[in-house]
Amino acid sequence: MLPCPVFIGGEWRTVSGASTSVFNPSTGEVIAECPAGSAELVDEAVQAAALAYPKWSDTPPTERARVFFRYRQLLDQNFDQICETLSREHGKTRLEARGDLHRGLENVEYACGIPTLLMGDTLENVARGVDCETLHQSLGVCAGITPFNFPAMVPLWMFPLALACGNTFVLKPSEKVPLTVVLLAQLLEQAGLPKGVFNLVHGGRACVHALLTHPLVKAVSFVGSTPVAKYIHETATRHGKRVQANGGAKNYLVIMPDADVSKTVESVTTAAFGCAGERCMAGSGALLVGAAADRLLPSLVTAARAIRVGPTDQSTQPDMGPVITAQHRDRITELIAIGETEGAKVICDGRGVRVSEAPGGFYLGATIVDAVAPNMSLAREEIFGPVLNVLRMDALDDAIEITNRSAYGNGAAIFTNSGHAAREFKHRVKAGMVGVNVGVPATMAMFPFTGWDDSFFGDLHIQGREGVQFYTRQKVVSTRWFGSGAEDVWKK
Ligand code: NAD
Repeated sequence: MLPCPVFIGGEWRTVSGASTSVFNPSTGEVIAECPAGSAELVDEAVQAAALAYPKWSDTPPTERARVFFRYRQLLDQNFDQICETLSREHGKTRLEARGDLHRGLENVEYACGIPTLLMGDTLENVARGVDCETLHQSLGVCAGITPFNFPAMVPLWMFPLALACGNTFVLKPSEKVPLTVVLLAQLLEQAGLPKGVFNLVHGGRACVHALLTHPLVKAVSFVGSTPVAKYIHETATRHGKRVQANGGAKNYLVIMPDADVSKTVESVTTAAFGCAGERCMAGSGALLVGAAADRLLPSLVTAARAIRVGPTDQSTQPDMGPVITAQHRDRITELIAIGETEGAKVICDGRGVRVSEAPGGFYLGATIVDAVAPNMSLAREEIFGPVLNVLRMDALDDAIEITNRSAYGNGAAIFTNSGHAAREFKHRVKAGMVGVNVGVPATMAMFPFTGWDDSFFGDLHIQGREGVQFYTRQKVVSTRWFGSGAEDVWKK
């Protein structure tokens, strides 16, 4: 059984008491127990972070950046080991695990630029003899609460930038994948981060509630499902905290009749089935316009049927791994069944998939459901599994209307060779991240991760300059120096 310690005030220790099981989804075996945490544990971590804050916030940004240059190197040196743990607790293929960590590492690289990112503005002579400057100062103790689906990338969206800005941090990762973060924290310690600057706690609702209501926590970053994101935003703002809360999604891929068949099929297959569909930027609905259905659907079905499903913890890697838990797999198959009763047709059925070498794993094959109508639950709800819904329509206007009807607004993409169609789509579509012939338009570290509507609650998004703004507050200083009389400029 793998250990799952907490890290508070620079000390690693195990916590006794209640726990939840961490599974290897490839085999169904329990590989660790994640402590359930408590409000007392959270208080200890927040107090440790508060104690470390004055010294860390006064450390020059160049010195803080140097910790992240070293951290970047350590992550690189330990890349394979982290990916192995990530695959083991999450079920991602080794290639997907590398993508997960790589995207996170780019956020560490971005944080290395903090001396430049924190530079303010100045204006000389805003009035005679008066100069003005802005300073970007840290907030204090920040908290991060993360989901199961990107065990490395999502935590790395948060703490490197928060710490580089001069804050201290308490992280509570998903209790389903707490092991990758332990490795990330160990390397942060090795990079020379002072004790108490970064703290790691484990647990569920009680821990989250304690973080949201703790008087010393100044800001909360959250990524997870929409109902929890709403609760986080409401509760933490009510307790006077700054909040950025990313929620769930339902992303549509609009395919025009003139789209390049082979490249679009490749892109849509990756968007729908990559990471077993457990991505907030997964393309879960294909809106096929006019002749696009006849041109693309047969190749899409062939591509989906060719996806090999299997365990990701062995040397031979499959194309797709399991989903996170048996309950989640059952919920996905239930949603497909409801769709069938509503009139949808399963044209590629992954429900019967058998993986003989790992019969206890939580597997579901790639599934394509045709004849889905916009009002069906399959079209509206986030499925978070390897299921692509096909909706057929006559015109781009219909596709934009259906996309814009969604309560979510994370991502949307169009596949076309027409500049006009692409321009119409990107202008009119209601989504924060838009792809033109790009199936997963997830933004990189230098851009904000801009979900809209029920995909985001707050004002300043995660990543990029918005991330820096979120983790700092501005001070505007107006300065005037008095001379000895005649030379005083404001008198001239
Ligand atoms: P989740 O909402 O179940 O859990 C996220 C975190 O919240 C975990 O740390 C969990 O312990 C905690 N939590 C869960 N229920 C809670 C409750 N009732 N009260 C307080 N805390 C609670 O999400 P998940 O299943 O781990 O992750 C999948 C979801 O995350 C999907 O909806 C996906 O779209 C979303 N997601 C969104 C983004 C984005 O950027 N928009 C990125 C990744 C994942």
